[in-house]
Amino acid sequence: MPTLDSKLVDAVGARTATALEKAFGMRTVRDLLAHYPRRMAERGELTELSSLRVDDEVTVVADVLTSQVRRSRNGQRLEVVLADGRARLQLVFFGKGAWRGKELVPGRRGLFSGKVGEFNGKRQLVHPDYMLLRGGGFDEVEADVYAGRLIPVYPATQAVRTWTISNTVKQALLVLDEVPDGLDADIRARHGLLDADTALRAMHQPDDHEHWYAARRRLAWDEALGVQLALAQRRWLAGANPAAPRPPRKGGLLDAFDERLPFTLTAGQREIGDTVAGELALPHPMHRLLQGEVGSGKTVVALRAMLQAVDAGAQAALLAPTEVLAAQHARTIEALLGPLAHGGQLGGSDTATRVALLTGSLGAAARKSALLDAAGGAAGIVIGTHALIQESVSFAELGLVVVDEQHRFGVEQRDALRGKAATPPHVLVLTATPIPRTVAMTVFGDLEISTLAELPVGRAPIATSVVPTAERPAWLERAWQRIREEVAAGHQAFVVCPRIGAAMAEFEEDVVGIDVESAEGRRPPLAAADVFPMLEAGPLHGLRLRLLHGRLGADEKDRVMTDFAAGRVDVLVATTVIEVGVDVPNATVMVVLDADRFGVSQLHQLRGRIGRGSYPGLCLLVSDAPADTPARERLDAVAATTDGFALARLDVEQRREGDVLGAAQSGRRRQLKLLSLLRDEELIVAARAEAADLVAADPTLAAHPQLAALVAALVKDEQAEYLEKT
Ligand code: ADP
Ligand code: MG
Repeated sequence: MPTLDSKLVDAVGARTATALEKAFGMRTVRDLLAHYPRRMAERGELTELSSLRVDDEVTVVADVLTSQVRRSRNGQRLEVVLADGRARLQLVFFGKGAWRGKELVPGRRGLFSGKVGEFNGKRQLVHPDYMLLRGGGFDEVEADVYAGRLIPVYPATQAVRTWTISNTVKQALLVLDEVPDGLDADIRARHGLLDADTALRAMHQPDDHEHWYAARRRLAWDEALGVQLALAQRRWLAGANPAAPRPPRKGGLLDAFDERLPFTLTAGQREIGDTVAGELALPHPMHRLLQGEVGSGKTVVALRAMLQAVDAGAQAALLAPTEVLAAQHARTIEALLGPLAHGGQLGGSDTATRVALLTGSLGAAARKSALLDAAGGAAGIVIGTHALIQESVSFAELGLVVVDEQHRFGVEQRDALRGKAATPPHVLVLTATPIPRTVAMTVFGDLEISTLAELPVGRAPIATSVVPTAERPAWLERAWQRIREEVAAGHQAFVVCPRIGAAMAEFEEDVVGIDVESAEGRRPPLAAADVFPMLEAGPLHGLRLRLLHGRLGADEKDRVMTDFAAGRVDVLVATTVIEVGVDVPNATVMVVLDADRFGVSQLHQLRGRIGRGSYPGLCLLVSDAPADTPARERLDAVAATTDGFALARLDVEQRREGDVLGAAQSGRRRQLKLLSLLRDEELIVAARAEAADLVAADPTLAAHPQLAALVAALVKDEQAEYLEKT
């Protein structure tokens, strides 16, 4: 009897097996049975024909309304009209087909498959495949395949129709051995899960909808468990590594820093700080993700961890995604440290250390001195971009790696930096924006997670409004006026554009997250390089304007940011280079042009650049998207709340999950056919807990061969993906 691992040809006919391999790459029975139905059609229920979209490959359940042979100069054709009681759909068969006319008679119900086209404003299927259901006479095929009330509708192609697949599945299930269950009965009982054999069969041939949902739930559970087991094993492996403990030192840098801190830490900062301090002191590496609301003060938490590492005689590296951000981190951290950053210099304190900045565009002399400080250990804190990962960079004693704004780094890069330490260093990852809990658990699931939800007290609120230029063109004038008012009151402003400039289109590296495809047919998004002279000559004439984008040289970028931070610039016209981390508390207004071209979380992050001090902030989202469009609804959502976690959820809902998971996780995504990171929260949380228990009791899953196989398949796929990319 065939098992799941049997070749497909051993379970079904050779011709079908070949066709299925060609169409879907299926080789084994497992592959076939993992081709799940997209939905279950009810034989008594008609497909809503009005919902069909042109160019979709569809399978519909419908009744024949009329059937007519028409003749024209070009020959004859059979025209059949299908109906669902409301809408209609035309079928066209060209050429001789009298026999079709005989079976496609009014009143006959069937399944019809094809690609939706349009002719003379009417939607139609040309030469669809079809299979008739109960009607005129007894239908043998139907009796065989669709004995149940529900009709599975499979993802199909022109060569392999859905009923061919259901027929094949049925054959395979008839001969298939009982599917062994990798899940212990007590876990199944605890979570009310079907056994594996029942679930796989019911996924294809359920008794009713309930039964189908139960099958999906069990199979989705397996997906969640596989991912969580892999992650739990990663955590376990990492935890089994030795690491040098970096315990706090009384009277050291950290204590000196805490004393000169100009504000009190929030409860969250203190609590997470304690957790981190405790983990750094352990003899195995910390792997922690710190996510938090925009402006919640993650940098201070990270800096305090770095100082503890320095106090313990080690160095800390801070990896930033852009040069602007790396340079700003260096500036901020040096300012926060004051004399504590002047180690070995006149005026530096005894406990002081040094901060080195290493980016790709440093001059030769500056680079050499930074490399020396890192290699010799004079710099306790080394800040940089990807350049830090290069071969030529070495550390005297790397004890802690902080990765800022993780979503732009792959796991591989994290690993590369980690490899620069003699013993595995402790790792703290910071994310730019809040992420939904289940996304965090899946994408960053090999990390322990801490969340900073509260903002420091005394933060002034940010008000956000949409400026709909389609309906209210005059409001844009008012937006520029608001900038002039804020500048007159001594404050500063941002104007953000989605693009750098037409001439630089191919270099738009800092324009992440913009949906270029959907922009088809629309005017190109506004470019900072075009907007800048327009504002300078027009509505913002007389103010001190500067342009900032990713294509400026590093020195120039740094100069612009320094000038802006020092108040020598009134208005910064910028791209999303300012999206992450830029911290100028005196900036109070932000005007985002073509705001609908940005993602929800991106807008939230952008807006976090203002209202960072004690002055209220104003964010104006300018868009010419018409009211009642999805684009405008997204902007309204951003305007309606400053809760980054709520917006992050919305973001995941609106983008495809694959985009959220990122390229690094696409291998994992392909394995997750049923699991939804949003809808299946309860299931993911439960699977994570069970996985942790299973791995704690049996780290290599030696006693659970099927679960081990589940993990192996997942990991293999991810590795293949990674190798393909490198
Ligand atoms: P984010 O979490 O977005 O990275 P930052 O770490 O950049 O936020 O902090 C935002 C601002 O708040 C900075 O100017 C920082 O100095 C300030 N800050 C951080 N913690 C506190 C606190 N406990 N009280 C007051 N201000 C704080
Ligand atoms: Mg930050």
